[in-house]
Amino acid sequence: MATNHFYTGSMLMIVAPSGAGKSSLVNALLEKDPSLQLSISCTTRAPRPGEVNGREYHFLTEAEFKARRDAGDFLEWAEVHGNFYGTSRSWIEGQMQAGKDVILEIDWQGARQIQKLVPSATWIFILPPSLETLEDRLKKRAQDDEATIQKRIAAAKEELAHVREAHYLVINDLFEAALFELRQIISATRLRADCQLARHQDLAQQLGVLSN
Ligand code: 5GP
Repeated sequence: MATNHFYTGSMLMIVAPSGAGKSSLVNALLEKDPSLQLSISCTTRAPRPGEVNGREYHFLTEAEFKARRDAGDFLEWAEVHGNFYGTSRSWIEGQMQAGKDVILEIDWQGARQIQKLVPSATWIFILPPSLETLEDRLKKRAQDDEATIQKRIAAAKEELAHVREAHYLVINDLFEAALFELRQIISATRLRADCQLARHQDLAQQLGVLSN
């Protein structure tokens, strides 16, 4: 992976325990800001009702996933809740070259890996307003059986243990307020000096402030 010296876009990682409302927030973000591109991950998890291959995820068999992983096709990958998940390296590199802002919905293990590869990536953590709300949201989802829900509650607590590694924290109590905060974080990320200098190279050169 090249360094992002010439990368004019921003990379935003959104991490949250299941039940924090991450997907609804990301969908609303994408609707409001068409310049954001969402990375569609590969997974070995079975599709949930209503999920479409290539829209929520690229659904792969374990053998397919491992073959792609071993071929170096994933920028990062992790095992979460007993399934494999990975981010396509070639898709991300294409977006980076085109200067697009990319959103990754990944877990803390993936965020750590990306942080090492792309130090300017912004890590946003979304928290539920309380543990009760988190458990309620997981139960109401009703797409998973009881054993899966319990596994997700345990995994949520593990995910929460990594909140301090993130750069920004959004508490998803009132949806619109959380969405507004996320949009502010994205604006601030786009205005980072390194991103701005890469984006406005002519101006930087004219003013003699080109980054090295
Ligand atoms: P779900 O199965 O509920 O869609 O996602 C389970 C967890 O896997 C979530 O925490 C989600 O963020 C994470 N996840 C989804 N895609 C990826 C990925 O490409 N890489 C990593 N590391 N985690 C992912």
